[in-house]
Amino acid sequence: MRKKIVAGNWKMNNDLSETEHLLEDLKGQVIPNEVNVMVAPTFTNLQFAFTSLKNYPIEVAAQNMHQDQSGAFTGEVSAQMLKSVGVHTVILGHSERRAYFHENNAVLAEKVSAALQNEMNAIYCFGEELADRKGENHFKVVESQLREGLFHIANSDWKQIILAYEPVWAIGTGETASPEQAQEMHQFIRKTISEHYSEAVADNVSILYGGSVKPDNAKEIFGQPDVDGGLIGGAALDAKSFMAIVNAF
Ligand code: PEP
Repeated sequence: MRKKIVAGNWKMNNDLSETEHLLEDLKGQVIPNEVNVMVAPTFTNLQFAFTSLKNYPIEVAAQNMHQDQSGAFTGEVSAQMLKSVGVHTVILGHSERRAYFHENNAVLAEKVSAALQNEMNAIYCFGEELADRKGENHFKVVESQLREGLFHIANSDWKQIILAYEPVWAIGTGETASPEQAQEMHQFIRKTISEHYSEAVADNVSILYGGSVKPDNAKEIFGQPDVDGGLIGGAALDAKSFMAIVNAF
C-alpha cells in the first residue's frame, strides 16, 4: 500500500543555528503515525539534523546529489557521502535544479540510477512550466520527464521511488494548482506508469504534489484520491505551518 508522505524542502535556507531552532520546534509537535515526515536541510546541516532527529519519526533527506561515486567533481556530494551521515533519501530533479543548474532528464536518469545502486530512496520531481500548460502541452511534458528520467528502472526499483509532481508555475508563487488540476495530473501519472510497468506498480507509488501548499489548502489537495502528500517549500520553514500540513490528511 502506498504511503502518505509530507517532505519539507528547506532549499538554501537556515544556517546551523536556524536549523537547530527549527528542528527543536518540530520535535515539540505531535506527528501522526500514519504520515511519513521528512525534512531536507542544506548539505552542511544534514549530519546535525540526522543526529538531532535520531529518536524522532522525522527522516532527513538531501536536496540533491551527484551521479558519480567520487572523483574530480568540485563542489559535489555523492550518494555514499550522504549515506555516511545517515541520509537515505534524496530529492532529485527539483525544478530549481533543472532551471538554474541545467539538470535535464538524461542527467536525472543517471542520478536516479546512482540512488538505486546505493540503496537510497529518490524523490523524483517533475512538472510543466506555465507556457506548457497554456499551450496544453503539460501531459506531454510530464510524460517525457517520466519516460526519460525514470522509466529505465526495473519493476522492483519502484519501491525506492517517490514522485513529486510540481508544476513550475505553482512553486513559490502563491499560485496553487486547483485540487482538480492536481488530481487530473496525478491520475495521468498513475495511468502512464501502469501502461509502462503494471497496475500494481502504479498503485503502490506515492505521488506528492508540490507548489504553494499551505495549511489552508493542504486538506483539499491531500483529499484527492491520487494525491499521497506534499513536497513543501516555503511553509516548511515554520514548524507550526509544516505540522498543520502534516496533519491535513
Ligand atoms: C518546492 O520547492 O518544492 C515547493 C513546492 O515550494 P513552495 O511550497 O514554496 O511552492
